Amino acid sequence: MNVQISVMLNVIWYYLCALKTTQMTNRTFTMIKPDATKNGHTGGILEMINKAGFRIVAMKMTHLSKEKAGEFYAVHKERPFYGELVEFMSRGPITAAILEKDNAVEDFRNLIGATNPANAEEGTIRKKYATSIGENAVHGSDSDENATIEGDFFFSKLEQF
Ligand code: ATP
Ligand code: MG
Repeated sequence: MNVQISVMLNVIWYYLCALKTTQMTNRTFTMIKPDATKNGHTGGILEMINKAGFRIVAMKMTHLSKEKAGEFYAVHKERPFYGELVEFMSRGPITAAILEKDNAVEDFRNLIGATNPANAEEGTIRKKYATSIGENAVHGSDSDENATIEGDFFFSKLEQF
């Protein structure tokens, strides 16, 4: 009897561990960048996002200051394109949003396509709307951890539904 209980507890423990390691957060963060906003693509991009099965759980239009754009992309501070990136991201209004879907981070990276639109696959947002590697229409978080940090950068918990 004790052996049976012990085996059962081990099985339960195994399943809990497996569940924990395979579990991902189901949210990601995106921005429709100033190029796409200026070119009137906000509606088209939101439609592609919705059609791909993402639910918008927070959204706002805003204009980043240079300071805020620099803070958001601080991870790229040492890269040669950092100055250009900060200039671009603070040039005009953007739409920031938190999106929900199973496997959100990876699925959204697939939906937006490669950083350089020349390498982006057909059917991706960047293939359709990006004009260059710098001005590439949309941002997408690259990890669950960054998705949370970036969502919290723009939205209070009261604004995340
Ligand atoms: P994002 O983080 O905006 O979703 P990404 O993850 O595809 O883009 P990153 O390597 O994180 O690409 O670069 C951040 C952003 O910096 C790019 O989206 C682009 O706007 C800009 N960028 C990246 N590489 C270059 C480059 N070689 N020249 C100019 N701008 C660049
Ligand atoms: Mg990135």
